[in-house]
Amino acid sequence: MAENRTFTMIKPDAVEAGNIGAITKMIENAGFKIVSMKYTRLTKQRAGQFYAVHRERPFYEDLCDYMSSGPIVAMILEKNNAVADFRTLIGATNPAEAAEGTIRKLFATSIEANAVHGSDSDDNAKIEGSFFFSDLEQY
Ligand code: UDP
Repeated sequence: MAENRTFTMIKPDAVEAGNIGAITKMIENAGFKIVSMKYTRLTKQRAGQFYAVHRERPFYEDLCDYMSSGPIVAMILEKNNAVADFRTLIGATNPAEAAEGTIRKLFATSIEANAVHGSDSDDNAKIEGSFFFSDLEQY
């Protein structure tokens, strides 16, 4: 069922701004079922592991500092065509380029503090979900 699931985080800026409820409501209204949900936080080291693919990029250090700066909400979501449909719902990485009505357009404050994460492939959705949730928590 991996192709019907994706993984998301509500990032520290959106949690701090009190937008957990509004963002979760948008996700549910778009037809996603919440399979797993956890209010937690990343250490800088864990953030570095999660974003290891970006370790050579100039923004990596700042990104790890930011992602470990406060609590996050991790979720596994289920819907037909979940990965692509969720990317559409959240909008472009840079909120200045995000389409009207997308989560990032509405809630992101910068290209770094961009409110939410969304997996970019079925394989990564599975890897990222398992980064936060045990097998039992993913039922
Ligand atoms: N990011 C950043 N500066 C950039 C590009 C990305 O700080 O120039 C951050 C941003 O928080 C983004 C994350 O790194 O969400 C991962 O980047 P990616 O290119 O994978 O974007 P996404 O898939 O999250 O849209």
